[in-house]
Amino acid sequence: MVKHYTFNPHTLSYETLGIPLRMRICRILVAVLLGCALSTMTIYIFSCFFETPRAAFMRQQNEELQIKYDFLLQRFRQTDSELNELMHRDNMVYRSIFEADPIPLSVRESGMGGMGRYEKLLADAQLEQMARTLIFMDKITKKVYVQSKSFDEVAVYAREKEEMIFCIPSIQPINLSDPKVHFSGGYGWRSDPFYKVRTFHHGIDFGGPVGTPIYAAGSGRVEKAEFNWGGYGNMVLIDHGFGYHTRYAHLSAINVQKGDKIARGQIVGLMGDTGRSRGTHLHYEVLFKNQDVNPINFFNNDISEDEYNKIIKALKEDANKPAMEY
Ligand SMILES: [Zn+2]
Repeated sequence: MVKHYTFNPHTLSYETLGIPLRMRICRILVAVLLGCALSTMTIYIFSCFFETPRAAFMRQQNEELQIKYDFLLQRFRQTDSELNELMHRDNMVYRSIFEADPIPLSVRESGMGGMGRYEKLLADAQLEQMARTLIFMDKITKKVYVQSKSFDEVAVYAREKEEMIFCIPSIQPINLSDPKVHFSGGYGWRSDPFYKVRTFHHGIDFGGPVGTPIYAAGSGRVEKAEFNWGGYGNMVLIDHGFGYHTRYAHLSAINVQKGDKIARGQIVGLMGDTGRSRGTHLHYEVLFKNQDVNPINFFNNDISEDEYNKIIKALKEDANKPAMEY
């Protein structure tokens, strides 16, 4: 260290000068700053080559988190694939059984707000994985919601179908195994017995003795039970719901009243010859949405193959034959 001296004229000798306080402080400050810089540099260099325990702990935690997210995503993908299988079955099997339109994939996946709500998370590299997992979870949640709604609908269709099975006309209005009863006129164009012109026959006819019981072809409610002046004579019209009606005409007696609840197979009246009719017979019509349809297509519950073939044969023979009944 450099020492400073001063000459003392009284003692005639050199005396050592003390270091001024300001200089001392400056020196200390420089030393401290140098120390700090040196230690910062050392820490920086050290951290470039070696990891601090805290950094190592956090890195390990990050890795574990990444593994957990990967696992979660994998489970979501599995769930999504099972859900897709369920959706396919719902569209192609359950909904098609009940003639319901399939739900398109665009509807099943729409309406969750997309990726917009996770923009901030997606912009952060550390949180991107979490955002993607959340987006995937939203997609699955939406699919599950739509699927559960679809199952609710299917359950309603199933209940309606059960009711529909009872209501839709599907038995013959007459006991065809009775030898006195026979099929006597088919649905379609034929010569009118009264006006001698070709007219459309809106139902089918069964001949037999007066008083032969006539049965309701399906469950429903009596809409009309009255004498019809238009030609049907004593007539019963049953509303089966689901767009279906059946008409039983030319009856000798009516056994039900307007508004009565009717079960399939219940006697609604007796065969007769009332109204515009030539000979005792039943005129039977099936209407769907107020349009008559061929009743032969609704004998699917109780008709044997022989009986069906007999009717088809009679229909062919009947096609050009002038009808004896209305
Ligand atoms: Zn007829």
